[in-house]
Amino acid sequence: MEDYKFLFKIVLIGNAGVGKTCLVRRFTQGLFPPGQGATIGVDFMIKTVDVDGDKVKLQIWDTAGQERFRSITQSYYRSAHALILVYDVTSRESFDCLPEWLKEIEQYANQQVITVLVGNKIDLTPQREVPPETGLQFAQANNMAFLEASAKEAENVETVFMDLARELTKNA
Ligand code: GDP
Ligand code: MG
Repeated sequence: MEDYKFLFKIVLIGNAGVGKTCLVRRFTQGLFPPGQGATIGVDFMIKTVDVDGDKVKLQIWDTAGQERFRSITQSYYRSAHALILVYDVTSRESFDCLPEWLKEIEQYANQQVITVLVGNKIDLTPQREVPPETGLQFAQANNMAFLEASAKEAENVETVFMDLARELTKNA
């Protein structure tokens, strides 16, 4: 028998370059690899966490460059329990693309999917283009949880994934 009580599929989406891969690496491996190259093909990482005494296995799917080609489709979103929609707080453009991502979610994801909006790269204070209130407002208007994070400084990364794991376990 497998050694976990729940298995959840978590999928990361958002423009290329916002830090999705770095967030996943930080959470699953505790690393922030400088100068890593883009990976090829959709792949996932596994991390088993403890939620109030229950072992919860998280299968975390990271896009690998398809962001650019709008080629992420139903197969990627299929059976996702949660989505992490990421933008870069130093890129207004990445924030302005969020409505397009929401359209994709509506089109492809499960109706019951839980989505958290993450503004990444808050360590880059002087370059910030999107204030926290702007992110929060957008999240609230679209029924999403909201967190700002830094994959580089390990800020709020654990919280993003653990909050989702807890929420999913509660609803399971
Ligand atoms: P992806 O295309 O969304 O997967 O983005 P990556 O994870 O490949 O990151 C894109 C670039 O942003 C890389 O050069 C990373 O080093 C950088 N990056 C990612 N997260 C952070 C962060 O929290 N802070 C800073 N300063 N840079 C980051
Ligand atoms: Mg990536």
